[in-house]
Amino acid sequence: MTHFDADWWWEMLGKPDWYRLVYDDFKQIESAAQAETDYGQRKDIKRPMYETVEKAYAAGHIPLADHGQDQDAERQPIDTIVIHHTKNPPGMTLDRLNAMHLLRIYGIPQHARQEPTNNKSEQLVWSGHYYQNKQVFWGYHWLVRADGSTEHILNDKYIGWHAGDWPINCRSIAICFDDDLSNKLPSKHALAEAAGIIRKYYPHVEADRIIGHRDANPTTACPGDKFHALWRNELLQQIA
Ligand SMILES: [Zn+2]
Repeated sequence: MTHFDADWWWEMLGKPDWYRLVYDDFKQIESAAQAETDYGQRKDIKRPMYETVEKAYAAGHIPLADHGQDQDAERQPIDTIVIHHTKNPPGMTLDRLNAMHLLRIYGIPQHARQEPTNNKSEQLVWSGHYYQNKQVFWGYHWLVRADGSTEHILNDKYIGWHAGDWPINCRSIAICFDDDLSNKLPSKHALAEAAGIIRKYYPHVEADRIIGHRDANPTTACPGDKFHALWRNELLQQIA
């Protein structure tokens, strides 16, 4: 098992180009987790990394930009709903989700997008997305809990970075089930609430534009193996 050096990560996370500095270690932890077949151990490998990012974010330790390019300039009218799952046991906290996405979808990819620069303000990570006056980095607009409660966590005017396909991000809303649906269906309550969200807020979206993450990006299994076989139709029926 890889050794996670929390002190080293903390130090790196305090630097403007933290995403570049932790890049190799992140990749190593990812491949160690991927090579691990046991579900619990796989999560154990990544947990300390996410915990450290979460703590550093909460402490204001990670340098983030407070202004920058408008990341939502290409927002289009919404005609697509993309369904996700967290692939974690129910009970994902917003702070953990934020830390995971700050690292995975803003930080680490920024290293690939950007050449090293001396201009510090250009280096800083920035989403331009705010929730309760804090800059946030999660990619989903809605979180649907297994008990049927829902949270609208990203304003629809923001482009969520969730589909792995930029044109689809620009025109879509991401609804994420707080559950690991790799091999099972969402709870009855969760499915009903997701249908309710779509019926109430996005009634104009055509049924064939309500898709799984894997339909936008074939490299992922999200939202699980049973989506097409078993529960997409049920979702569509409940919406209708
Ligand atoms: Zn997904």
